[in-house]
Amino acid sequence: MENQFVLFGNQIIERDHVSIDMEDRGYNFGDGIYEVVYIYGGEPFSLNEHFRRFEESASKLDMKLPYSIEQVKEKTAELIKANNIHNGIVYIQMTRGASPRAHLYERESASLITGFARKMDPPADAQEKGIKTYLTPDIRWLRCDIKSLNLLGNTMAKRIAADHSCGEALLHRDGICTEGSSSNLFIVKNNEVHTHPATNLILNGITRQHIIEITGEEGITVNEEPFTTEELQAADEVFISSTTMEIAPVISVEGAVQATYPIGSVTRRLQEKLKDRIKQHRVHQ
Ligand code: PMP
Repeated sequence: MENQFVLFGNQIIERDHVSIDMEDRGYNFGDGIYEVVYIYGGEPFSLNEHFRRFEESASKLDMKLPYSIEQVKEKTAELIKANNIHNGIVYIQMTRGASPRAHLYERESASLITGFARKMDPPADAQEKGIKTYLTPDIRWLRCDIKSLNLLGNTMAKRIAADHSCGEALLHRDGICTEGSSSNLFIVKNNEVHTHPATNLILNGITRQHIIEITGEEGITVNEEPFTTEELQAADEVFISSTTMEIAPVISVEGAVQATYPIGSVTRRLQEKLKDRIKQHRVHQ
């Protein structure tokens, strides 16, 4: 297999040589966290922001890093190099490690960090033409702010969307739109941007944070306030964001509400400004 070097503990080894214990808590309980970082031209984008969130997720789950975050960053850089990634992603995960299966975790357990890197081009088609979405109830737990390995609510929603020929599921909790199954959600109304506040009900996306900074620079008002499914339906423009997608326009929603949307000027402007940030980052490396 191509790109076969992986991070296992603190070593870069061949993927075939990995051995994970049957009773690793990540495997038994989904007891772990992860990050996905995009690599542009060989350089990871917003690496520090991603690893700050990684440390926050660990701390919220009372989980200790087996070595320093600086070393995790160094290992990530080695992993990218070993796999010769120009454009792609690097996935880093940490579980609470192996122990005889029991719900109660010990604070001193030996966390296990693993990671892989993969070549991947930004999804130009989705960015250009937009994607269809499907609105479905948000059945996830109440700590969506933690980037944990427990993603069943997300994966089930993504399957429902795909079964309706949609590229992303949008989620709502009792009529309040939260986010996408693997993205943050924004609507535009009268040239103002609205997105769910960074509470326990959403993941505070790194791309989301860039977009909020950009709206500030561009003099666009952003309302970090909950909005309803009716407001989603009546929006002028809708878009979603994530590390792997950057910004993708939403051209339609089906399911709990139905609407179609044009790809508007605010979405296009934010897409362009985010691309500028990514380019600048490469120049400054
Ligand atoms: N929300 C969820 C549920 C996600 O899985 C993701 C993608 N990791 C995001 C939002 C977007 O976060 P980011 O911009 O950091 O990729």
